[in-house]
Amino acid sequence: MLQHDVELKKFDLHTNDVLRRDFYKDRVVESCPICGSTRHIKYGFYNGIQRYKCKVCEKTFSRTTNSLWSYSKKNTRTWLKFTELMTENKTLKFCAEKLNISIGTAFYWRHKILQALSIDSTPDILSGVVHVGKVIIKENFKGCRDAEIIASSTPRENIWVIGAKGQEDSMFVKPIFKHQWNKIAFNEKIYSKIEKKSYIAPYGDRYIKSVAMRHNKNKSIKVETEYRIKYIWPNLKKWLSIFHGVASKYLQRYLSFFIIMNLDKVLDYMDLIYDRLFEGNRFTKTEEIRIMKSPF
Ligand SMILES: [Zn+2]
Repeated sequence: MLQHDVELKKFDLHTNDVLRRDFYKDRVVESCPICGSTRHIKYGFYNGIQRYKCKVCEKTFSRTTNSLWSYSKKNTRTWLKFTELMTENKTLKFCAEKLNISIGTAFYWRHKILQALSIDSTPDILSGVVHVGKVIIKENFKGCRDAEIIASSTPRENIWVIGAKGQEDSMFVKPIFKHQWNKIAFNEKIYSKIEKKSYIAPYGDRYIKSVAMRHNKNKSIKVETEYRIKYIWPNLKKWLSIFHGVASKYLQRYLSFFIIMNLDKVLDYMDLIYDRLFEGNRFTKTEEIRIMKSPF
């Protein structure tokens, strides 16, 4: 008798395996994730995914090792769908309900993705006409264990987020200092990245204007307005409000996502998965998600 797979469970497992295999098909593993050696041999397959054995430390690893989704017990389809919902700016509650995962899992997945994106979203150098602007954001203690106590005892400081865009298709948007203008931090974190022969176009801040004046040797040329920097203040506020406020300790991660959503290159969620989240060592341990170095 032919047994019917009424709930299509086997079918579901099979499509999941196929998806997973396809996902890892082209991933290149150059060095051993344990000792870093580049000498390894092919060492069979596990669930259809190539395994390797390191010739130095003799440990085995596969194309899935240290990828963003290593060790996830949830199926491939669920986290592909999650990434898609994230690019649609859906709330955690929405994602959790839609994909039948807990809010906790949704939180960790979002932060895994944000953390992986923040690895490569910042340009090393800004050149050509460099547009520079700022946004001041109030400190936010959301999610802190003693959020209410902190909020009532310490006044919320202003965080200066500086946005800069040169001719490259990348942007610099980072929290740079707290409280008031800090020339040393500005020079160290932003000005040092601006090419000497570039022209600085400042937007709306007298300190940034004075930096630009000096850099441009008091010459002013007419440049095309860069609206992503000119309107960075309303755009960023609007974007952050989608997340109902973002804890300051996680601000940098969210800004990386903001940058990617503001590039000239239009990315859909598949590009995000394949281009941005796939290469290199993207794996973040769950306990590392909550540990965040202060940007200051
Ligand atoms: Zn090794």
